[in-house]
Amino acid sequence: MWRWIAVAAFVLLCLYALVPNLLIRLCRLWALRTGPARREIALTFDDGPDPKYTGRLLDALKAAGVRATFFVVGQKALAHPDLIRRMMAEGHQVEVHGWTHAFVPLLPPRRTLWQFRRTTDALGRTFGVRPRFYRPTWGALNAVTLGLVFRTHRLVTWSIMVGDWRLQPPGQVLQRVVERLHPGAIVVLHDSDDTWGAETGAPEQVIALIPELAQRVRAAGYSFRTLDEWY
Ligand SMILES: [Zn+2]
Repeated sequence: MWRWIAVAAFVLLCLYALVPNLLIRLCRLWALRTGPARREIALTFDDGPDPKYTGRLLDALKAAGVRATFFVVGQKALAHPDLIRRMMAEGHQVEVHGWTHAFVPLLPPRRTLWQFRRTTDALGRTFGVRPRFYRPTWGALNAVTLGLVFRTHRLVTWSIMVGDWRLQPPGQVLQRVVERLHPGAIVVLHDSDDTWGAETGAPEQVIALIPELAQRVRAAGYSFRTLDEWY
């Protein structure tokens, strides 16, 4: 009896927490991983706003004439409203990453929706933003996310991820992005190091690569787009 209950619980857990991620990653269903097949790319930044890094990242983007899409943590957005207002004023796009940086596959249904809706509502109420895109924390989701989120938002992952949350030798993060450039690339980078697994100071290398990345992307014939310019 208990054996069957354990088996049933395991199957349900797989259906809830594992299968949606396999569908998204392996079958490439539902989630936007790329933009249109033109010589355009989208830079996206997750996990901010962070008072230590985001302001200087915005300085670098402004100097390079690049507009980007920020998937923000709702709790941090309300804690640092000036950074969100600055993103908006400088033409960047503000979208939903979660209220906290929780691991969504193991969140119960109500908590899953709360993470997403509370951030969406807070961004709307406080900043007048109407988010249309959602990138779950760590790009991981569960069956509730799949079933309900799509009514209002588009799920976004990425096509270029280079491990920028780890400290790498100088120039390596830039090199990895440039080597993998392709039409419609969605590049994910991070402007905070307080997420589990991130190494302290890693966003410094992201801020530092912006000028040369902008130059090399343009030299290769690409231009930068925000997600709402594509979809
Ligand atoms: Zn994240």
